[in-house]
Amino acid sequence: MTSEEIRRKYIEFFVAREHVQIPSSSLLPDGDATTLFTGSGMQPLIKYLLGEVHSSGKRLVNSQKSFRAEDIDEVGDNRHTTFFEMLGNWSLGDYFKAEQLPWVFEFLTDVVGIDPNRLYVTVFSGEEKYGISKDDESVAIWQSLFKQKAIEAKDIFIGNPDNGSQMGMQGGRIFYYNSKKNWWSRAGAPEKMPAREPGGPDSEIFYEFTHIQHNPEFGNECHPNCDCGRFMEIGNSVFMEYRKKEDGSFEKLPQRNVDFGGGLERITAAANNNAEMFAIDTIGALIAVLPQSGNIRSKRIVADHVRSAAFLIQDGVLPSNKDRGYMLRKLIRRAIVHINVLSVADFSALETLSQTFEADIEELFAIVCKTYQTIYKLDLPNITAVFRDESKKFKSTFKNGMHELKRYSTIDGAVAFKLYESFGLPYEVIKEFGAEKAATLTREDFEKRLDEHRILSRAGVEKKFGGHGLLLDTGELKAKDEVELKKVTRLHTATHLLQAALREVLGPEVKQAGSDITAERTRFDFTFSRKLTPEEIKKAEAVVNREIGNDLAVAFKEMPKDEATKTGALYFFKAKYGDRVKVYYMGHSIENCFSKEFCGGPHVDHTAMVGKFKIAKEEAVSAGVRRIRGVIEP
Ligand SMILES: [Zn+2]
Ligand SMILES: [Zn+2]
Repeated sequence: MTSEEIRRKYIEFFVAREHVQIPSSSLLPDGDATTLFTGSGMQPLIKYLLGEVHSSGKRLVNSQKSFRAEDIDEVGDNRHTTFFEMLGNWSLGDYFKAEQLPWVFEFLTDVVGIDPNRLYVTVFSGEEKYGISKDDESVAIWQSLFKQKAIEAKDIFIGNPDNGSQMGMQGGRIFYYNSKKNWWSRAGAPEKMPAREPGGPDSEIFYEFTHIQHNPEFGNECHPNCDCGRFMEIGNSVFMEYRKKEDGSFEKLPQRNVDFGGGLERITAAANNNAEMFAIDTIGALIAVLPQSGNIRSKRIVADHVRSAAFLIQDGVLPSNKDRGYMLRKLIRRAIVHINVLSVADFSALETLSQTFEADIEELFAIVCKTYQTIYKLDLPNITAVFRDESKKFKSTFKNGMHELKRYSTIDGAVAFKLYESFGLPYEVIKEFGAEKAATLTREDFEKRLDEHRILSRAGVEKKFGGHGLLLDTGELKAKDEVELKKVTRLHTATHLLQAALREVLGPEVKQAGSDITAERTRFDFTFSRKLTPEEIKKAEAVVNREIGNDLAVAFKEMPKDEATKTGALYFFKAKYGDRVKVYYMGHSIENCFSKEFCGGPHVDHTAMVGKFKIAKEEAVSAGVRRIRGVIEP
């Protein structure tokens, strides 16, 4: 079965069950500056899962384009891709487990035709200290579903996934795992959730490739969450039914939601019982035109990166040295290098690029556009133009870069960064072609140097243009880097408080002129005619801490821009806003609050979560513009 058929049948299946099909969102999250790319079907729908009313109703279905930059290192094996589609269906306070699980099972077995004997499921094992019981309700539903297929579904309690490699399958079909595997909330496990945060158990479906033997490198015994490749997750139903209370315990939500996500490429691979993801129709069409004799890893990298690059360019990304643009640059340059690797016998002998590589890659872009033409309109001339431009830049430095690379006997972070900065060789290329010389080179070390460089260059840029809006500029910060994200979220919230405090102490002539936040500090530029006195600085700091002490609720209202302006909410005069904006306010209500500003977030829920705020420095930026650096403790 092809992914095109599965996508179409999935949408039809849920539309027939009163779901409304919603379009795929862009790969670039709208108004969410904390995440570079849309990585799941749930991501664009978060606010509706948290209670906002969706104009298309309570039952939604779609196939969402997704991109996961963090998987780039994994690309090259038989199943990791950076771009994928996620099939999703949602109940916003409508149906629940008793409908969701039978539907998904029916779709996978009866519609797609997957052998039910190859399916295994996992459920939440419960969390005693929070009074959340194990998900026996889902287990009972699963047992009756398997029974209809004449399969006796024994349940096995594993709890901590680490136990799985000792316990093994034990003839089970349904497996209980703890919150490390079967709990969803934005913050992660129950203990990490702030008060009032919703979350809930989930139930995952795994497909078993029986021809793949368990690899003991991943543990003594195999089990559904083993990473050896025998089991592949093909779908996850999240049941948002709990909310954390102020006292740390949990209560049931009045509105319960279902969020389902299933990787289209993975479901297709399962439908064909072929663990080689790159054999499915959409990616296989690319592999098919690459040299048969070439090494499979390079072929997978070329196919994945070309496909991802096409979709990123389509959604408006251009190659650059920062954030999204940097990711696109990496994809294109790596694809160029690996398509060249396919044309030489000896990997390490690559010194000049082939005469035909550009035409070869353009052919691949054309195949991507054709493959997806019935669902996504991809603009081939534009994609090709962006690629040619980037290829031209890369060609002119590649030879020198490779020559330089070969001169070094060891390649550490500093050398790698130099090769990147001077010759445009991406980390992956350096690591690969550096071979033993680059054995100790780590991505962390390289990225650290890159970050230092970015902070320096950003400071330079801001002097010229006056900086960014009060939007997060988090670089390549990933949502999974929770600690850093939390700190940035606290500092961002503190920046709102700081602006309001400065206006209270210095008067309404204070207006935002720029802002930049890292995990270490916030930097806030504002209009004011003179240097602040030490007393004023102390006072502003005290006002911020006063409102942190008052533990104001942080909330927002979305409204038309005109209406938002009338509320008196502050906005950054240099920023561009859409027709509808979010007004974040801290305090009792939008009419009666300490701070209100146009903003996209993210913020802490309560100002007490900011911690203690301190002004570290006050200085001039230019005539009439001051700059404050603030830090938080601990
Ligand atoms: Zn295994
Ligand atoms: Zn904000």
